[in-house]
Amino acid sequence: MMNKLNQDGLLQIDVNPFTRLVWNSTEAREKYEVMLNRALPLHDKAEYEMVRRGLRKCGTIHFSPHTFHSLIERFHKDNMVWLPIQWTRNYGGFSHRHIPTVVGDSNSSAYGVMARNLEDAEAFRRASSYMARGQTDHKELGDLLLFPDCCSTFFVEKWGDGYYDPVWHSAEETKNSKMVADRVIEVEGHIHTNQMLRYMGLRTTTHFPCSLDCEESIRIGDIWLDVMNSIDQTGTDYLIELLSMPIVWSCLHGVAIVETPIFTIITNSLPTKERWTVLFNVPGGDKPAEKMILLGADVDLPAIAKDTRKHLEAMRGVPHGN
Ligand SMILES: [Zn+2]
Repeated sequence: MMNKLNQDGLLQIDVNPFTRLVWNSTEAREKYEVMLNRALPLHDKAEYEMVRRGLRKCGTIHFSPHTFHSLIERFHKDNMVWLPIQWTRNYGGFSHRHIPTVVGDSNSSAYGVMARNLEDAEAFRRASSYMARGQTDHKELGDLLLFPDCCSTFFVEKWGDGYYDPVWHSAEETKNSKMVADRVIEVEGHIHTNQMLRYMGLRTTTHFPCSLDCEESIRIGDIWLDVMNSIDQTGTDYLIELLSMPIVWSCLHGVAIVETPIFTIITNSLPTKERWTVLFNVPGGDKPAEKMILLGADVDLPAIAKDTRKHLEAMRGVPHGN
């Protein structure tokens, strides 16, 4: 069975960041759009609160020309500090790198670190090697950001090998994972390790888990959830419901398609040569195969190929034979 995604399986292309959400039906949109919009801002709000309340030393946040004045006021009133790291051009959705910009570009923002004191903020900049010579100190960064060691180690290793969106790799590290076909893995995970909707911003923790059953991630996720609950209990319930949906994540040629029963996300991801698919459910939740008609499952590709050929031949005036 073909089930190891290695570097031979990647193309040398880089797809520009983009993320689109498509509702699967008008009914789904009417029922879930309010819920989605309420759940979406929670992660970023919680990230700020985690730092302000001392549950985490640092966090990252973008200051844009349009928001800096209100953010600065809030930081001052909360006795928080912010230090800039790098200007980047704004992008939709998910990016594994900062995009170059020019001075005065109003469609750009300053990425930086927030903390309760300058020492921690400086430590973050030192460790991330943005403002210092030398290697990025991922262990130190993990401590400042409340990332489990196992997950920091995993992510650094995968990132270094070019897998900047290691969804497949974290699935195959999961104890109960099962290869069900070539390049298709079925796995039972947890809302705190579900990073397959993060392209839109739906997630409980900031870090990428080493596996979908990583115990440390689940422990830390509960801390995030407590903070989220204190910010907006209903929104948190919605977020949990959305992260508990069965999901089919698949990736091909630098584009990931994330299917849920109610919407589908299309986004940039790893430039794989072939399609790699993760079938995800939470414990006790529906499995994708039970709830969804998988994209393409109802399509007869050989029949379409035959029809297309006939059609093209007819257009060219070639009589169709064999
Ligand atoms: Zn871990």
